[in-house]
Amino acid sequence: MSSLSSNTRAYLYSAEKPTDAQMEGFVRFLSRKYEREIEVSWVKSKEFPGGFRLEIGNDVYDWSKEGKFEQLREKLAYLAKHSDDVIPLMKDTVHNWTPEAIAREVGTVLTVGDGIATVEGLENATYGEILIFTDGIRGMVMELRRDEVGCILFSDEAPILEGSSVYRTGKTAGIPVGDDFIGRVVNPLGEPIDGRGAIEAKDYRPIESPAPGIIDRQPVNRPMETGLLAIDSMFPIGRGQRELIIGDRQTGKTAIALDTITNQKGKDVICIYVAIGQKASSVAQMVNNLKNKGAMDYTIIVNASASDAAPVQYVAPYAGCSLGEYFMQKGQDVLIIYDDLSKHAIAYRSLSLLLDRSPGREAYPGDVFYLHSRLLERAAHLSDELGGGSMTALPIVETQAGDVSAYIPTNIISITDGQIFLESALFFEGQRPAVNVGLSVSRVGGDAQTKAMKKATGTLRLDLAQFREMEVFTQFSSDLDDTTKNQLLYGKGLMRILRQKQYKPYSGEEEIILLVCALGRVFIPVPEKEINKVSEEMLAYFRANRMDLADRIKGSETLTDELRKEILDIAKEFLAKRK
Ligand code: ATP
Ligand code: MG
Repeated sequence: MSSLSSNTRAYLYSAEKPTDAQMEGFVRFLSRKYEREIEVSWVKSKEFPGGFRLEIGNDVYDWSKEGKFEQLREKLAYLAKHSDDVIPLMKDTVHNWTPEAIAREVGTVLTVGDGIATVEGLENATYGEILIFTDGIRGMVMELRRDEVGCILFSDEAPILEGSSVYRTGKTAGIPVGDDFIGRVVNPLGEPIDGRGAIEAKDYRPIESPAPGIIDRQPVNRPMETGLLAIDSMFPIGRGQRELIIGDRQTGKTAIALDTITNQKGKDVICIYVAIGQKASSVAQMVNNLKNKGAMDYTIIVNASASDAAPVQYVAPYAGCSLGEYFMQKGQDVLIIYDDLSKHAIAYRSLSLLLDRSPGREAYPGDVFYLHSRLLERAAHLSDELGGGSMTALPIVETQAGDVSAYIPTNIISITDGQIFLESALFFEGQRPAVNVGLSVSRVGGDAQTKAMKKATGTLRLDLAQFREMEVFTQFSSDLDDTTKNQLLYGKGLMRILRQKQYKPYSGEEEIILLVCALGRVFIPVPEKEINKVSEEMLAYFRANRMDLADRIKGSETLTDELRKEILDIAKEFLAKRK
């Protein structure tokens, strides 16, 4: 035991505030041990349930459940080996036991800069362990070499000097979690950055944790409605699915994610939006928008902005995922958005290069596939035995000039269960959301749709594919026969119906009504430019005059032919009245 350190202040970490008598006990214990006056300060910490941890200088008294157990186990093993009559000795040990100080391992900083530090003298440090530097700055071990460890730093490195001391904590990086995080904006370390005071945590979870196994899962079979007709009809997303949103810059990727969040209002889904490497001002704007839509009541924002160091951006999605797992394991449904993983890969690339790892394709390190697969595998639909909760992941990836065969896009396409491909050309034509129907896919498909929606969608994808082909064919011909003309008109109408304004999600019933009408060729007589206006008025007409219909669509298992006919009749009635 090293009582050489001259500290006169000890820190006591525990979940509950100790009583005065207990405090006195600690002071007495320490003063006797170190033969000088020692003050004890209490620090509230949830990390040592059912116990406490006392730190003075480099000495640590670990009285947490695990610490107690570990020390007792060692002692008993020792006794069993060295004594013949162990039982009385064991009894004595268990009853009259006080924890012994385990000297903390102290290392020395070799180099520091760019958010990275190399440290020598920490022989037992483990991958992912948190180290404490000067001024309590935290870092995480990322690289283990023969006589030094490479470590990423989570805050400004200015106070850290070469030669300064570093302490091991024995803990892996984690984030506090709890219900009180809902409605808040936090950084990847779980600290609030919305100026609304401290957040009370329920638990502390490691940011990296293994994905649920096969036995722990069940098939994805409940819809996670986005409220966007183009997606819910053709590329349905299920709870527990991972669907990539991919496209060039400024093609409405974030808009799709935000629409999906706003559409979860009143649906008992916890939403987590992880912003990686974005401008702080755009995140602030977005939080405002969500607040105005009432969506912050069930949403958590984890923000690692462009000005944050690469290590902070690197841990952000894992931290967000841990928060999501907390809710999922309670049996709740979670929607998590990673905006975006291209910037995440870039942050990882820069810190890998700084850690001297060898660069591979596009200068990314060799394990960049694992970087994203271990994150996205954590999305799941848990089995009923585990509470039946789910976490749906919508990662976002930015492409350059529509190139989906670049390194990061191909990786993530192969990890996810489908992608929504957004196209600049469509976006500028005014076709928003700019979903490219040919290149988008949802590999979970119809299982994630209600029967009624599946039936209403019918041949939409096929019709659109035919339309695209015909459009190309007829581009240069002037005189078209009537069938072709009608076919083109119909296709154009379908494309129009799929246009949707931002923050205007449709309910499931409205989507079904629109689909039935569009596929029933109700909009053929309407001039193309007016289709969106007319369809909006028509939905209002349905709402005003036929409230019962919406309830019946909602209540019915599937879309019956009578119901379909009724919808078409009302739509025609509305169009006739409108003229
Ligand atoms: P970035 O690459 O910068 O992240 P992004 O692909 O996320 O861009 P957004 O920020 O979602 O794109 O959208 C770009 C712009 O287009 C925004 O101003 C947004 O308001 C607008 N926009 C997106 N979707 C729609 C829509 N359906 N209708 C009208 N405007 C839209
Ligand atoms: Mg965006």
